Amino acid sequence: MGKKRYVIIGNGAAAIRAAETLRALDESGCITMVSREQGPAYSRCMLPAFLAGEKNEDDLRIRAGDFYEKHGIKTLFGSRAVDVDAGRRCVVLEGGSRVDYDSLLIATGSSTAFPAIKGLEGPGLFGLRDLSDARKILDVAGRGRRAVILGAGLVGLEAAVALARRGMEVTVVEKMPHLLPRQLDPAAAEILRRDLDGVGLRMIMGTGVQEAAAPESSGAGAVWDLLLDNGEHLRAEMVIAATGIRPNVDPVLGTGMRINRGITVDGRMRTSIPEIYAAGDVAETRDVITGVRMLTPTWLHASLQGMIAAWNMAGRPRLYPEPVGIQNVVQLHRVPVLALGVSNPQDASCEVIAIHRPAENLYRKLVLKDGALVGAILAGDIRMAGILAALMRRKADVSGFKDLILSGDFHCGYLARTG
Ligand SMILES: Cc1cc2nc3c(=O)[nH]c(=O)nc-3n(C[C@H](O)[C@H](O)[C@H](O)COP(=O)(O)OP(=O)(O)OC[C@H]3O[C@@H](n4cnc5c(N)ncnc54)[C@H](O)[C@@H]3O)c2cc1C
Repeated sequence: MGKKRYVIIGNGAAAIRAAETLRALDESGCITMVSREQGPAYSRCMLPAFLAGEKNEDDLRIRAGDFYEKHGIKTLFGSRAVDVDAGRRCVVLEGGSRVDYDSLLIATGSSTAFPAIKGLEGPGLFGLRDLSDARKILDVAGRGRRAVILGAGLVGLEAAVALARRGMEVTVVEKMPHLLPRQLDPAAAEILRRDLDGVGLRMIMGTGVQEAAAPESSGAGAVWDLLLDNGEHLRAEMVIAATGIRPNVDPVLGTGMRINRGITVDGRMRTSIPEIYAAGDVAETRDVITGVRMLTPTWLHASLQGMIAAWNMAGRPRLYPEPVGIQNVVQLHRVPVLALGVSNPQDASCEVIAIHRPAENLYRKLVLKDGALVGAILAGDIRMAGILAALMRRKADVSGFKDLILSGDFHCGYLARTG
């Protein structure tokens, strides 16, 4: 058999890790990376620091300039994949050219899901997913002084803090009653909100945007007028939508591949079509606690999934250790917060225990089901996160020492007792 042809669509966290793993496992295989963006791979996680003026574009790079050459990787950057012909085993690029593969990885990440709000379209409206978004935001930030951020999730809050650090007047509007609504509960969110008071953000919770008036031009560019559900008007030179993500499944829509929100993969990152794998924000894996398929849109998961996909693409079977719904540690100002697994249980049979010392910015909440830890929220002191994740993964019975865990004195020496 000749050299195996590996094609990777993407040049982000999952793709880069897959490419370097493939090269380590198969010295002679042909590796081609296709990316719609120009330029070398960079860290999306650092885009807020770039917005804040704390990092420049070179600082964002995640591999050395000669990475592709050194690994013998052919790059087709600035090329959008528009289709996959699974029968002929080729990727179709915009313009019609084709790239043949023996094994294909879809690592196309995700895009901003813009909210459907009457009138909300046009210049001065941005998402924050890639470097080109960040450059456009900075361009407007150089002229305007007011920004409205829609959504108080991780990306929204990071963008808000970054622009506030640049000296902009920033207002965050969130439909749900508290910050990081998917991860935190009201007690933890209140600790975070007070911490963010120190950054000078204005936060409007529990209200959405009803409609946006077409931007009128001023010396600083377009000025938005947003009418909120509570009747208030907000005027700003820029609006950043951080209301959710949409996995970039477009290139495989015509293949008949099994897709839920993202591409459904098995433990080896295989899609429902032979020799096509998926990894990163575009893929859906199974949560080890709930058994539910879900997106795991974090850098760590993307990178790990890219590596596991590569092992399997190279014919060396390896299983992905299913995640425990671990969310990112968030530290926007002084106080770190973290949520794990089922942090806001709807199931009445779950037991919830917590300590809450707002004056010390300390909150620790544990969620147990049938004696096993299934979720947690930590604010202020997150040192136990790794141990809690290990207990959750083991589905260990912790009922005998749950109070010790809650006190914060539990350490890994006790793990032996969990069997
Ligand atoms: C502002 C921001 C802050 C973040 N902060 C954190 C954080 O603190 N911690 C954390 O864990 N995660 C964070 N994340 C999430 C993290 O960056 C993503 O989970 C991770 O980048 C996903 O990696 P990926 O490889 O799946 O996709 P991406 O890194 O998004 O890469 C996708 C690649 O696919 C290419 N592509 C897409 N469609 C096509 C197509 N049709 N044809 C060709 N190429 C295509 C893109 O150009 C890109 O190269 C943050 C994300 C953002 C946007």
